[in-house]
Amino acid sequence: MLQAESEMEFQEWIKALRSSTESLLVTGAGGDRNTSYTSLSSAESGTSAAGSTTESYSTFAGPMDAGRAAILSQATASFVARVREANPVCADCQRPEPDWASVSFGTVMCIECSGIHRSLGVHVSKVRSLLLDAWPRSLREVMEAMGNLRANQVWEARVPCDLEKPGVEAPREVREAWIRDKYVRKAFLGPSRRTEKEADGVKGQEEPNAVLYAAAIQGDLAKMGWALAHGADVNFANGKERRRTPVHAVCQRGQSLAALAFLVLNGGAVDVVDDDDWSPLDLAMNGVPVAGGGACGIGGAESSEAEGARRQLQLQQQNQLSITSSTAMPLVSYLLSKLELKGS
Ligand SMILES: [Zn+2]
Repeated sequence: MLQAESEMEFQEWIKALRSSTESLLVTGAGGDRNTSYTSLSSAESGTSAAGSTTESYSTFAGPMDAGRAAILSQATASFVARVREANPVCADCQRPEPDWASVSFGTVMCIECSGIHRSLGVHVSKVRSLLLDAWPRSLREVMEAMGNLRANQVWEARVPCDLEKPGVEAPREVREAWIRDKYVRKAFLGPSRRTEKEADGVKGQEEPNAVLYAAAIQGDLAKMGWALAHGADVNFANGKERRRTPVHAVCQRGQSLAALAFLVLNGGAVDVVDDDDWSPLDLAMNGVPVAGGGACGIGGAESSEAEGARRQLQLQQQNQLSITSSTAMPLVSYLLSKLELKGS
């Protein structure tokens, strides 16, 4: 595994990344990218107006300026190195050394395929540059938990034997047809019911919503990806569990930031309540011990979730509430950032 072990090695990484960035800009990829981001923004405002939950993505959508791109954190630099090593070829056309990612699918792809993904709209695929965009922890964890191999086990589970996957030399029309067949028509998915096998034989079959709910708790992104590809409702309210959604379930019973972020990237709502009026933030906070003991909730049903979140944030900022380190803490921070955005 490639990882920057020392300050010197880290500086080498920065140098390598900077030169990659510069070569992208020199070859005109940067200019192309700016145009694409303009259209991405308009696509986003379109979906936001329609009430889509994808609006929270807008915080991540802004391209970094050249100065920021050069100052990658060590965590991001080693993340980029690991992701490139784990995904040596484009998920869609097998071109080597891909530098772009779809955070919706957790895949890495070449610049040509990233352009096709963008043309599908952010409701299908959210595209980011490995080298030019910021990679907050939540997105890093999604990419590392998924990757091309796991994603393609879902999206290319059953490719007809007379159909060949596009190669390095494939023209754009061929790649585009493949990508649309793969992700929009979902033409290459396997069986629509997942069979859970146990040592002593077949345990039973589960439908996508149930698989998504359980996999979210387990933090199993491959299974979550399978369920979503097969039509699971990301905001499915589980009647057996107080009508909690998979987002609720991760916050209450799981601890995976990757699972939470993957749900949100695929339209999972953070401002929902269950039959007991608990929001995902309430459930995550209940797992976080506070100084002085006990658990904390965040106020009554009379205030909106966003107001509650803002109040919570203010409290934290004033140091009136000191939350000790906990596995739920990254989930709490993530939810607060999402709710804060919605409220503003
Ligand atoms: Zn490609």
